[in-house]
Amino acid sequence: MPHSRFKRVLLKLSGEVLMGEQQFGIDPSYVARLAEEVKAAKDTGLEVCLVIGGGNIFRGISGAAKGLDRTTGDYMGMLATVMNALAMQNALEKAGVQTRVQSAIPMASVCEPYIRRRAERHLEKGRVVIFAAGTGNPFFTTDTGAALRAAEMGCDALFKGTSVDGVYDCDPKKFPDATRFETITYSKVLSDNLKVMDAAAVALCRENNIPIVVFSIREKGNLAHVLAGNGIQTTVQEEAE
Ligand code: UDP
Repeated sequence: MPHSRFKRVLLKLSGEVLMGEQQFGIDPSYVARLAEEVKAAKDTGLEVCLVIGGGNIFRGISGAAKGLDRTTGDYMGMLATVMNALAMQNALEKAGVQTRVQSAIPMASVCEPYIRRRAERHLEKGRVVIFAAGTGNPFFTTDTGAALRAAEMGCDALFKGTSVDGVYDCDPKKFPDATRFETITYSKVLSDNLKVMDAAAVALCRENNIPIVVFSIREKGNLAHVLAGNGIQTTVQEEAE
């Protein structure tokens, strides 16, 4: 599927990709590599919104498993996404890309609050906008935050860069004969409970007709290939082609 018709996209990166080869946290050299890929995408004339997860630092659900209140854990997880957003902003600006971070949880000394019209203006001026703190609410994920911002900002597609190169009929890490879909409908993802994004995110994209492109960001240069419609990926959309 050629993506050249897209004007504005939202790129969602799982927190875990910021770890590079580490087991935890942020690897600045890997973040710098990701920033170069985002810059290359922007240099093609695309308007780029970014949402970064927090799973490399903290997930509310794992805190809850160890006895923390789920809501407290979720707020901690949202704060983790702000740290990742700042790391990515730093890397992008070092690469010469003007970037603004907007957080769903206001923290005036650190970044801007989320204001849609202001984000719109940043994009018009050619800046990358990183939306931090997910939806700002516990019991959600940054995937849902990404779907929400993609809908609000009128993005043409949501690109989900992760460690897996698409959507499979079963877990490719456990089952070597798992088959990757080229395209798949939102409804099949939901009915088969396929692990692409959480159901709320998929439903929001379906309602707003935003295609979800799942691809591996771990291979160098893959974002550019996928944006050009060439790379290995799965597109979740209304009608499978
Ligand atoms: N989170 C939340 N509400 C949101 C977005 C995120 O409570 O709208 C919390 C939640 O605890 C989640 C954590 O932040 O586990 C990190 O986000 P996520 O797990 O989506 O990160 P990723 O898996 O993409 O790295």
